Amino acid sequence: MKKNISINSFTKDELNTYIFDLGEKKYRTRQLWKWLYVNGVKSFNEMTDIGINLREKLNSDLLYNRLEIDKHQISKDGTQKWLFKLEDERKIETVFIPESDRGTLCISSQVGCTLSCSFCHTGTMPLVRNLSTNEIIGQILAAKDSLLDWEIKNRKITNIVFMGMGEPLYNYQEVTKAINILLDNEGLCYSRRKITLSTSGVVPIIQKLKHELDVSLAISLHAVSDDVRNELVPINKKWPIKQLLSALEVYPGVNNSRRITFEYVMLDGVNDSINDAKKLVKLLEPIHAKVNLIPFNPWPGSIYRCSSEKTIKDFADEVCYNGGITATVRHARGQDILAACGQLKSNSSRISREKIADINVA
Ligand code: SAH
Ligand code: SF4
Repeated sequence: MKKNISINSFTKDELNTYIFDLGEKKYRTRQLWKWLYVNGVKSFNEMTDIGINLREKLNSDLLYNRLEIDKHQISKDGTQKWLFKLEDERKIETVFIPESDRGTLCISSQVGCTLSCSFCHTGTMPLVRNLSTNEIIGQILAAKDSLLDWEIKNRKITNIVFMGMGEPLYNYQEVTKAINILLDNEGLCYSRRKITLSTSGVVPIIQKLKHELDVSLAISLHAVSDDVRNELVPINKKWPIKQLLSALEVYPGVNNSRRITFEYVMLDGVNDSINDAKKLVKLLEPIHAKVNLIPFNPWPGSIYRCSSEKTIKDFADEVCYNGGITATVRHARGQDILAACGQLKSNSSRISREKIADINVA
C-alpha cells in the first residue's frame, strides 16, 4: 500500500476490507472508526487499545493528518471561517454559523466551480478540481477540533450543508463517500435530514440522489423563466426549468415535513418583481417546496446589485402570504470576516476571488 492514502478517505466497508487484508479481526474496524470519528484523536499513536504492531502498520501504510489551517477568523456575530491549504497549495474555505437552535457548517466540494453562474464569484475561478473524500471530511474534522466539538452530547455542528465552493453533484463520487462517512451511526452519526446538498440542477444525478443518499436537497433556482435562468445559471441551457422541476415533482419521499428548498438570489431589476414572485409560486405549486431568498452579495467586478430590502420583503410576502409557500430571507452572517454568501475568498487561484457560502437551510 502506498503511504499517500489517507485513512479518512475510507468508507467503513473499505476500512473493513483493509483490516481484513491485514489478517486482523473485524472488531478492529469498529475500534479504529471510534477513535477517528467519535474521539477525534489526531494520531494512530493515541489509539491506545490498538496493539503496537497494528499501529505501526497503520503508520507505515496510511496518512492520518488534519487539513492545514492557513487562516482562522471569528466574526463579531460568532460566525467562524477557516481557510485551508491543501497538499497542492490550493485553498478552500469552510464556514461555521452558530444560531440559537443549531450550528451549521458550510463545506466546499470543489476548488472553484466549472459552472460559471454569472452572479457567483466561485464560478470565475480559473483553476478547478474536485476535492477528495479526505478533503471533504477533513473540513469537518478540523472544524470540530477548532470548536472543541468532540463531545457526543450537545454538539456544536448540528447541520452540514454543501454550499461552499463547487457543485457537489459534479463531484458525486467523493461527495457520496463523504456523506456515507458522515451518516455512519458508530461514528459522526449525522442524520440524513441534517445534511443538505445544494445544486444548480444536475438533473440526471438528482434522479439518483434519493435512492443513493436521501439527504436534504436545496436547488439553486434563481429565476422563473429560461431566458433569465440561462443568463444566471448557464447549466439551465442543458437542463431547463421544466426538466428540472419535473425531476423534483417525482422526487420521492418529499412531503410537508421534508420539503425541497429553492434558493433564489435577489438581483435588482433582474428576477425580483412581484410578477416573478407570482410565477415562482405557480412553478412550485406541484412540489413540496420552501423558498430561501438570498440577498445578493456583490463582489469586485460583479455586474449585479442586490434588490432593496423592501423589494425582498414584498417578494417574500407574495410567495408566503399570497402564494402559501414558506419563504425565508437568508441573513448575511460574518460580514466583518467576509464569510457571508458570496463573500468567501480564496486566493488559491492567484487572483483574488470571493465566493459563496451561507447557510440557514432548515
Ligand atoms: N454549487 C452549488 C452550491 C454552492 S453555491 C449551488 O449552486 O447550489 C451555494 C449558494 O450560494 C447557491 O444557491 C448559489 O447560487 C448562492 N450564491 C452564489 N453566489 C452568490 C452571491 N454572490 N450572493 C448570494 N448568493 C450567492
Ligand atoms: Fe458553481 Fe454554485 Fe457558484 Fe454556480 S452558484 S458557479 S454552481 S458554486
